[in-house]
Amino acid sequence: GFKCGIVGLPNVGKSTLFNALTQTAAAQAANYPFCTIEPNVGDVAVPDERMEVLAKIAGSAEIIPTRITFVDIAGLVRGASKGEGLGNQFLANIREVDAIVHVLRCFEDGDVTHVENRIDPVADAETVETELMLADLDSLERRIKPLEKKANSGEKEAKEQLALMMKTVTLLREGKPARLVELTPEEKEPFRQLQLLTGKPVLYVCNVEEGSAASGNSLSAKVQEMAKAQGNGSIVISNRIEEEVAQLDAAERMDFLAALGLEEPGLNRLIRAGYDLLGLITFFTVGPKECHAWTVTKGSRGPQAAGVIHTDFEKGYIRAETIAYADYVANKGEAGAREAGKFRLEGKDYVVQDGDVMHFRFNT
Ligand code: GDP
Repeated sequence: GFKCGIVGLPNVGKSTLFNALTQTAAAQAANYPFCTIEPNVGDVAVPDERMEVLAKIAGSAEIIPTRITFVDIAGLVRGASKGEGLGNQFLANIREVDAIVHVLRCFEDGDVTHVENRIDPVADAETVETELMLADLDSLERRIKPLEKKANSGEKEAKEQLALMMKTVTLLREGKPARLVELTPEEKEPFRQLQLLTGKPVLYVCNVEEGSAASGNSLSAKVQEMAKAQGNGSIVISNRIEEEVAQLDAAERMDFLAALGLEEPGLNRLIRAGYDLLGLITFFTVGPKECHAWTVTKGSRGPQAAGVIHTDFEKGYIRAETIAYADYVANKGEAGAREAGKFRLEGKDYVVQDGDVMHFRFNT
């Protein structure tokens, strides 16, 4: 599956956030219990209001959301790139995730110690990013030497890889994260395989005190400014509130949120933002039995989407009966969409669009 790693300095509220995520997941439909793969790894359902709309139209007996994984990655301190704290373990864990959710402490609380004795989320972000850049630089420099030999002896692939590594190293030495490197379309996959920590997309989570959950505060405003300048996303959440909300039942939850000026749990925004960060979109299969949401990466074609449901579907793919979400809703379901000429038969090259309602035809 697709994984978001939760990182941040100690005591910024990572565990609080992860606990909220896992408790919410535990409270979700009984047939889809929260599954802990390891104590710090959890699957959560991706909230999507479109599922209820589709299920109502089709009279589906059951709604099955799609899911993504969050990993709580502890152990990041200044010096992690040199093995301080849980240094090496931390770096190995973060290498395995597809995107990074970076929690920043934007709350004041004299009772909670800050590792660097100051509340400055922008400086914290720099501390963390610096460690990650140093680790990337170190890992690239290790790989460059042996590669140079191969490149000098004329191996084409080695030459190309070396060029990619060299331009990334140059950027890192200027103090810039690897995600800013300009890539040709051919370089995208080799770059991903380098598994660089600062090559992964980032979302900042501003953890504010309870009273600022709806409005944010001056610290989160600074983070948002920084994120914007970097081209990264950011959201404001009170992790404490989320932890409380996660323990309430559905009815209590809405009242509690309304009293705080919130329309929905911050976790919903976080999960959706994480999904987006991973470059994922959703398609649906809808029928009387179930309304099922499925995940593909943006740009996936019909057979790949079919393969998410079953590998046989991908091999034997013929066509996908496809109705755009808006057309399905506007015409009150499949029959109406057919009549309105909004029912399409899509072949192997079709690029799946977010919200597509699909039914696959395949050979067995
Ligand atoms: P981690 O080390 O980043 O995993 O941080 P924790 O989630 O364990 O939080 C560290 C401490 O900060 C705990 O005592 C939390 O209860 C507290 N904390 C987390 N979020 C908030 C918050 O929004 N407001 C306040 N006042 N305390 C918080």
